[in-house]
This record gives sequence, C-alpha cells and structure tokens, in this order.
Amino acid sequence: MGRVAFVNGQYVPHGMASVHVEDRGYQFADGVYEVIPVIAGKQVDGIGHRERLARSLRELRITPPMTDRALALVIEEVIRRNRVRTGHVYLQVTRGVAPRDHAFPADPESAIVVYANSKPAGGLGKQAEVGVQVITAPDQRWARCDIKTVGLLPNCLAKQSAREAGAHEAFMYDSDGYVTEGSSTNAWIVDSEGRLVTRPVSHDILNGITRLSLISLVEGQGIEVVERAFTVEELKGAREVFLTSASALATPVVQVDDRVIGNGRPGSVTSRLVEIFRTYVASEQVDAAAGKTI
Ligand code: PMP
Repeated sequence: MGRVAFVNGQYVPHGMASVHVEDRGYQFADGVYEVIPVIAGKQVDGIGHRERLARSLRELRITPPMTDRALALVIEEVIRRNRVRTGHVYLQVTRGVAPRDHAFPADPESAIVVYANSKPAGGLGKQAEVGVQVITAPDQRWARCDIKTVGLLPNCLAKQSAREAGAHEAFMYDSDGYVTEGSSTNAWIVDSEGRLVTRPVSHDILNGITRLSLISLVEGQGIEVVERAFTVEELKGAREVFLTSASALATPVVQVDDRVIGNGRPGSVTSRLVEIFRTYVASEQVDAAAGKTI
C-alpha cells in the first residue's frame, strides 16, 4: 500500500495530493501548520500540537476545518494508513480557496491537509549521542520587505483592517512612526512645495515597478521627487496623498484615518499624475517598457 494523504475530507494517494492554485496558503502564506512527531507508531504531544493549532487559527480568525476530536482521528488514521513507526505527521490549515485578494474572503471554507512521513528520529537517534553544531544569524522574520515574497500574511491582516474600517488600503508605519508602504501599494505625499515624497528604497519597502515608472515619467515635467521617509503625522497633514501599484497606477487618497486630505477631493498634482499615466499607457513608450519585440 502506498502513502496516503488526507486532503479536505478525503484520503488520496500521496502523489495525487494537491491544493488549488488560489489556495490562500499558497498565495499569501495565509495558513498555519503543525508537525507532530511519531515514535514507535505513537503521536508525541498530540494534544499540545492540536491546542496550539487551535490557538493559531483563532488568532488569525480561520475557522477550524473540523472538531478537535475529528482531527485527532484523522491524524491517527493517517499514521495507520501510512504505517509510520518513526517519523512525523504534517498538518496544514489555510483560509481556503478564493479569488486573489489580500483581504479575507467573505465566506471562506478552510482547507486542510494531513500527511505523514517515515524518517529516522532526530531527538532519540544518533544526534542525541554526538550532538549538533549551530551558527548565529540575524533575526529576519520578516525584515526583508524588499523581496516580493508570497509571505504576505501581515499584508493581508493590514488590508483586512482597512476593509473593516471601510477603507481601500492600509498604509503601514514602522516603530518610529514613519510610513513604510501600503499593504499592496507604495505610499506618497505631495508636500507644501508640490514635490512628490516617497520612502527611499531599503529592506523596509517593496520597490514598486509603478513607483519607479512614476519617478521616470515625471522627469522633465517640472515635478520634483524627493525620496525620504515621512511620518504618519506628516501624511495626515499633507497637501495631497496618493498610492501607486501595478493595478492602481497613481490613485488619489482623500482620507487617512479620520483626517480628510485637502478638500476631500483628488488634488491637482495627483490628478496630473493620473493624466501622465493615461498618456503613458496610450503611448508607444508602454510597448518599449514591456520589452515587446514583435
Ligand atoms: N508594496 C507592496 C507590499 C506590494 O505588494 C505592491 C504590489 N505588488 C507594491 C508595493 C507596488 O508594487 P508595483 O508597483 O510593482 O505593483
């Protein structure tokens, strides 16, 4: 008998076990997992692992896919069907499958996968006799926002907060009160001199392609760009605010938290940027930027 995995209510051959391309675990790391050791055919600390799973799910507001009792049975069954003596059970629960959108789907159905691996014991095996070596490393969990990783769970939580507040986007700020970027956009203000201000590139933000495109499009148009960090306070008092992203291009922001920006309507500088993008996408320049060769 070959290996078997439990996927959303069914036991399937391990080689056929798969998840949907729009599973939020795959696209956003919007899920949680546990690894339960199996020694002499028995789960070790099964209850502890299930309790932590329940806590992780609660914290992320993911609906448990089944009762604790049912899950315990599935874990036992996966161990049994795979004849695991020494190894582990891997289980993962995600917010489920939905059209890609950072905010939570309206009516999600959690997805669950449980499978088992047979492998030599670490803790009670050879390593227990000879010991292991370690190195030190900077804690970067997750301090590399410049990488367009699918590890987007914090972004999803920020976007969800925005949705729940009736807003379009959440601009995030660092521990010093400086705006970093939006959950899926770059953040900009227009200062009192009419200059465009956005945070300089570092590990703290994703260097948006639209951000770069805008910087080059305004060159020679009498619009100055200043790359510097700005505080939440400056954001709220700015003459104009806007965001950029591939889908939003340059979109005016007319309110931040409960502060209305300007007169509550898109400002003249941002409206000009919208026009600049309109002209750009209708021009041959856009084909050149696509690297089009035919
Ligand atoms: N920041 C973050 C965190 C994003 O997810 C995105 C969208 N990919 C952006 C900025 C804007 O980048 P781009 O202009 O390349 O869409």
